[in-house]
Amino acid sequence: MWNPADNLKWQKDAECAKPANKKYVDWFFSKKPEEKYAAKNLCYSCPVRSECLQWSLENKQIWGVWGGKDEVEIRRTLSVSYKGEEARRRRYPNCPYCNARPFQLETRIENVPGGGRWKTAKVVVCSECNFSWRSRTSVNAIEAYKQMRSDRIARRERDKTKRRRTRKKAT
Ligand code: SF4
Ligand SMILES: [Zn+2]
Repeated sequence: MWNPADNLKWQKDAECAKPANKKYVDWFFSKKPEEKYAAKNLCYSCPVRSECLQWSLENKQIWGVWGGKDEVEIRRTLSVSYKGEEARRRRYPNCPYCNARPFQLETRIENVPGGGRWKTAKVVVCSECNFSWRSRTSVNAIEAYKQMRSDRIARRERDKTKRRRTRKKAT
């Protein structure tokens, strides 16, 4: 079940907001791989990693490290370019929380509590870890992946039948 990450209470438990860790804040936007890696490590010991990751995806934070994922991983999950525009990337989204493969991700339309202008939202739910996030572009990418996968399976079945028929004719 999808829970919106609109409530920001989780931020008070953020590992990166602890006074002892504030000196590392630049790591989260660093271009140096070793600093980025250190930032991700801090995220993996953070008690609010899931909330942070969900918030960053739902608010299109496409720069920096959030919830243990860097900008490239977040853009891939959202299927957007560095400009934030929808773009089909070479790799389809995995679950950003547990790395489950795209065929293990379900897409749904959910009601938005207190909806306002947007009463419903397109949501992705991981069948492995239950992590969920709201994103139209992620849903589009996952549905495109599933379509491509089922086309490939159908094609394989058709080829198999064709080969079987040819073999029968030859005997
Ligand atoms: S997951 Fe990482 S970026 Fe997010 S609050 Fe925790 S330490 Fe900060
Ligand atoms: Zn997952």
